[in-house]
This record gives sequence, C-alpha cells and structure tokens, in this order.
Amino acid sequence: MFPLTDIGALRALLSRHGFSFSKSLGQNFLINPSVCPKMADACHPDLDGPFAVLEIGPGVGVLTRELARVAQKVITVELDTRLLPVLKETLADCDNVTVIHGDAMKLNLADLIAEHAAGLPVVVCANLPYYITSPILMHLLESRLPIHCITVLVQKEAATRLCAKPGTRECGSVTLAVHYFAEAEILFGVSRGSFLPAPNVDSSVIRLRLRPSPACTVSDEKQLFRLIHAAFGQRRKTLANSLCSAGYDKAQVLSMLEKANIPPTARAEQLTMDEFAALCEASI
Ligand code: SAM
Repeated sequence: MFPLTDIGALRALLSRHGFSFSKSLGQNFLINPSVCPKMADACHPDLDGPFAVLEIGPGVGVLTRELARVAQKVITVELDTRLLPVLKETLADCDNVTVIHGDAMKLNLADLIAEHAAGLPVVVCANLPYYITSPILMHLLESRLPIHCITVLVQKEAATRLCAKPGTRECGSVTLAVHYFAEAEILFGVSRGSFLPAPNVDSSVIRLRLRPSPACTVSDEKQLFRLIHAAFGQRRKTLANSLCSAGYDKAQVLSMLEKANIPPTARAEQLTMDEFAALCEASI
C-alpha cells in the first residue's frame, strides 16, 4: 500500500522516478488524506449496483486508488508520459484500473467507455487540471457520453461560476451551458494546503448530475450556445449591445428581444435559461 498522501513518501517516490512538477499541465497533487475518500464516496449518487468511473489526470494515482475501492472498473486518462511508470507502481495491486495514455480533450472517450466499461453505468470523477476546467467539462457534456454524474475538484472561483443559478450575478456563459445539461452543486471546499505543490487559491468539489433531457427545448442547440457566448462576450454591456458587438444587426437584435419579451436594457447575467431559449427561437 502506498502512502500517497504522506509528503515524505510522495517526494521519495517522485524523486526515484526523476519526476518534477509541470505547472503547464496543472499538476497539483492531493496530499490531504480526507479528500479522495470523500470524493470517491460522493461520485456515484443514485447508483446502487456496480458502476465504472472515468478519471481524467490520475497524477500518482491517489484518487484512482480510492475510486478502485468503490467502483467495479476505473478507466483513467493521463497525458504526462513521465507518470506512467509511477502509476504502474502505485496501482500495481488495483486489478480493476486501466490507465490510458493520452489527452482527455482529444481521445474518443465514448469508445474508451464502450471498450472498458461495457454494460456498466458510468460516472466521471477527477481532480481536474485547472487550465482545462471548462473546456473538459464542456467536452464531456457536449459529446453526450453515457455518463450519470461528474464529480470534480476545481478552483473555488470556477466552482462558484459553474454552479451559479442562471439569472444571478455569478453567472457566465459556462454556467448556462452546464445548466442546460446538468444540475450542478458545490459539495465541499478544499484548502490550498491540501495539494503539493500548493496553488495560490482554494478549491471546491462540485457535482454535476446529468439531466435525462436538457433544461430547455430549442430547435437549434448550436444557435443557443452561439447566442449565450455572444451575450456574455461583453459582460458590462447590455444584452442588445453585446449581441451587436458580436456581429448581430441592431434591428434584428431589437426584434429578437421584443419577440422573446426581453427588455433591451437587460444584461446577459439576468436572463434565465428559458429566456435564452426564447431568444434562440426568436433568432431563427
Ligand atoms: N489526480 C491527481 C491528484 O488528485 O493528485 C492529479 C491531479 S492534477 C490536478 C491533474 C492531472 O491531469 C496531472 O496528472 C496532469 O498530468 C494531468 N493532465 C493534464 N492535462 C491533461 C489532459 N489534457 N489529459 C489527461 N490528463 C491531463
């Protein structure tokens, strides 16, 4: 058994493998022993029977080992080749873990799930590299993978934005995009001292439970996301001005807003999901 949350043992393991942390890959490894068991226990709500977990970025495998404890199967994707021999050692006794080398943004995750977790319900659980938090979540959601739930550790500010309620100040385009596919909640906070090396900010664990069907119905999903993106492009401007700055014609914008029953002075952060859906329909 590897004491992966023991700083001395972790440093010795890494130094034996000649490993040095890469900031650009978002490598902040968890050393707080209470976080990984809590994440593993929280990542499979509503699933009573056997299930599989897809992890992104195992690092040295500290969370992976906990996931192997609760799941029947763990598929974990690591980009950094230098960590593969480390994982071979730290996960040697975990028969139910498959380590895949690759970029989680580029791999065909649906194929991976079909190949390694056929017949099992699947959840995602990860301490995400902070530089791809939103892109990876959008990639997971938009590719409509057969997953029930996504439980991830992200920077606190990102957690607030991802889990904000549409129509509130904390909202951004990613809030609406997440809300469209899932119900998001913050589970618990994780202090910066829980990582090696310690980042400059605290983090939170969030959970996205995928909806059986999207939060609203639109005839063109791509157009909905284009509009949301354009609306939040210039946060300080009114919605009408943001849409004009994004290339929409002024007369068309005013007519769209009128049809959707939205005042031209409204700001993107004030709109609910249903209002964005109405705006989308008015723009088609
Ligand atoms: N799970 C470990 C932990 O909690 O200690 C490590 C988490 S660390 C924040 C992020 C991990 O993601 C690193 O191991 C890093 O090498 C890996 N990573 C970074 N970009 C990646 C990508 N595009 N695809 C897969 N893994 C990636």
